[in-house]
Amino acid sequence: SNTKERLPRWMKSQLPSGENYSKVKRLITEHKLNTICTSGNCPNKGECWNAGTASFMIMGDRCTRNCRFCYVQNLIPEPLDWDEPRRLAETIQTLNLKHCVITSVDRDDVPDGGARFWAETIRKIKELNPNTTMETLIPDFHAKKELVQIVIDAKPEVISHNLETVKRLTPKIRSTARYDRSLKVISYIAQAGVVAKSGIMLGLGETPEEVLEAMDDLKAAGCKVLTLGQYLQPDPHLMKVVEYITPEQFDIYRKEAYKRGFRYVESSPLVRSSYHAERHVNA
Ligand code: SF4
Ligand code: SF4
Repeated sequence: SNTKERLPRWMKSQLPSGENYSKVKRLITEHKLNTICTSGNCPNKGECWNAGTASFMIMGDRCTRNCRFCYVQNLIPEPLDWDEPRRLAETIQTLNLKHCVITSVDRDDVPDGGARFWAETIRKIKELNPNTTMETLIPDFHAKKELVQIVIDAKPEVISHNLETVKRLTPKIRSTARYDRSLKVISYIAQAGVVAKSGIMLGLGETPEEVLEAMDDLKAAGCKVLTLGQYLQPDPHLMKVVEYITPEQFDIYRKEAYKRGFRYVESSPLVRSSYHAERHVNA
């Protein structure tokens, strides 16, 4: 498409096609599931779905928040569908996934922010897929420790919470979320002994010093896995790309992150928080 042609050459990704791609697509439709691959308009859908992996999004496709980089619709959500955990667990079983990534919209309309729904989902997946490892990319639950603990108690292998951007830009691009609150969430996860993972999007106008500061803050909070990728405007009404960070700069950031002691770092233009997620389980 035209959008693709305006991107730097290093941003080109694989086209959606292939047998696995169709299988994943069909199962997701049949089981009425949502994925961040589609809801986030992710450029890696071709590669990931072809490889038989997807990043599932639970609790509906409407978010109570309205972040300026996010393609998910900001509408009043439907009531929670307590049958969804079963359908998701069965889909993971059918796809025979060794590892899965689950994320959700933010449900500020539900008193516990969806924490119990999250726990139920994790338990159902484990029940039907005892050998499948899991990464759960969770909301901030307003940094309420007892709510994050409900997810921790369900024992996913990796819990991630994205910082999304540097401190200065946080109020400008995230809705409701706060930089310090997100760091708190990371520290609860790390203190519980679970692999804590976080991600930052680049190209929103942040300076290299600010990126390094965010790395330091994440490391201090106990974060072990870090993902850095180029922000892409998913839709014309969302935030514009300020800058395309070069692959060389991503390499510099990767080295800086390893220097700081992160156990696993993904840093390149097309990296999304769920990219190569299966590698992060043993971090
Ligand atoms: Fe889906 Fe993540 Fe792959 Fe994008 S990188 S297609 S969101 S699994
Ligand atoms: Fe998107 Fe923000 Fe909602 Fe997350 S909280 S789904 S980033 S709008």
